Amino acid sequence: MSKCNPVMIGAVHRDSIAMRYSAFSVFLNALRGNKGWTPAWRSPVPKNHYDVIIVGGGGHGLATAYYLAKEFGVTNVAVLEKGYVGSGNVGRNTTIIRSNYLLQGNNPFYELSMKLWEGLEQDFNFNAMVSQRGVLNLYHSDAQRDAYTRRGNAMRLHGVDADLLDRNAVRQLLPFLDFDNARFPIQGALMQRRGGTVRHDAVAWGYARGADSRGVDIIQNCEVTGIRRENGRVVGVETSQGFIGCGKLALAAAGNSTTVADMVDLKLPIESHVLQAFVSEGLKPFIDNVVTFGAGHFYVSQSDKGGLVFGGDIDGYNSYAQRGNLATVEHVAEAGVAMIPALSRVRVLRAWGGVMDMSMDGSPIIDRTAIDNLYLNAGWCYGGFKATPASGFCYAHLIAKNEPHETGRAFRLDRFARGRMIDEKGVGSQPNLH
Ligand SMILES: Cc1cc2nc3c(=O)[nH]c(=O)nc-3n(C[C@H](O)[C@H](O)[C@H](O)COP(=O)(O)OP(=O)(O)OC[C@H]3O[C@@H](n4cnc5c(N)ncnc54)[C@H](O)[C@@H]3O)c2cc1C
Repeated sequence: MSKCNPVMIGAVHRDSIAMRYSAFSVFLNALRGNKGWTPAWRSPVPKNHYDVIIVGGGGHGLATAYYLAKEFGVTNVAVLEKGYVGSGNVGRNTTIIRSNYLLQGNNPFYELSMKLWEGLEQDFNFNAMVSQRGVLNLYHSDAQRDAYTRRGNAMRLHGVDADLLDRNAVRQLLPFLDFDNARFPIQGALMQRRGGTVRHDAVAWGYARGADSRGVDIIQNCEVTGIRRENGRVVGVETSQGFIGCGKLALAAAGNSTTVADMVDLKLPIESHVLQAFVSEGLKPFIDNVVTFGAGHFYVSQSDKGGLVFGGDIDGYNSYAQRGNLATVEHVAEAGVAMIPALSRVRVLRAWGGVMDMSMDGSPIIDRTAIDNLYLNAGWCYGGFKATPASGFCYAHLIAKNEPHETGRAFRLDRFARGRMIDEKGVGSQPNLH
């Protein structure tokens, strides 16, 4: 479980109106027939006007609201969510967290996120099941080993833990992998021991509860259908619950970023694609870590209930649908079986899809827009879950101070015009490949 948070990010504390969770409160409520629990957050009627409205009650929107209230004292905030909290990608991802990035802009940002994950449960008083079980990226050739060595060195230069494991060391941890696969023999792995998994919907619930207890209104079933402007500035949003005015409008709509930005004729360098995830029947514990295949796109971990949680590539064509297609199911299964042959005997229990906001260079955007009081948080591609704490913190900083936080400064919208791409994968301007 998590340790103390080594990141100093201020300490604005207000008396919480939510009950405090502890072993003692569990004990006490058990004695009282569990009748003392209160809802984790309110269901308020929207006010006429807020200082800040956040569009999207996913991980990033809720984390932003939480840090706005907690770190920057901005509490007259509403989070508008068209469905229910956790119905988007924050509750659909494969729960992997890591900070094993190569590039300058990415590396410190994802490491800030990792440090925030490490203190998150104490910070928002919620059990998010942060599990630093280690992430291994397998390599299958000399060239791939060299690339991973370079990445590991870059990580270490930034103070991030990284270990290059040889074949025998990997075999000790994961003896069931197909080491002698004729096409993709496993030579070793780059391991980040502090990487791991976090229970994704608990993250949404924890941030929602923490934000609500500091005065933020979380309004579910409230779809933003239009953005009203006067003299160039945003004055509020049209919603399925009527017009709501605001001083600042912050978009955090993930896979729907382009449709929301369209409401102010803002064209984003983003395509929406579907990514699927899968869970198997429960098995006895056998995968202790998160493992990713280096010769195809496949990643797997085992949940506390025993199910294997895994995924692979996006479906490959644009879509706003939260469901995937069979061709990708086959593709993912092939990659999985190439890495772990025994998977061929495991039954899949559930599969689902989420809509991904794939940016042109595979990196996110946390920035102001050309419209003075409109802010943008988007382009998280495959990697937005692990970024949730740092994204929320940097976005809250930007909204509160109108200045980017140092750690998120690279994620500017105009980097595409200035040629300052952050192409971690090195695949060029192909959003579907990032
Ligand atoms: C299958 C899958 C696996 C993934 N695996 C990982 C992983 O292992 N690790 C990792 O780091 N990342 C992973 N990701 C990516 C990660 O989940 C996303 O990048 C991240 O969750 C996006 O940010 P969010 O949580 O704010 O998004 P969301 O939870 O999607 O939040 C956006 C919210 O905006 C709402 N919204 C949209 N339009 C409107 C509107 N008009 N009005 C009001 N509300 C609106 C939506 O309903 C939604 O709830 C995965 C994604 C998927 C789909």
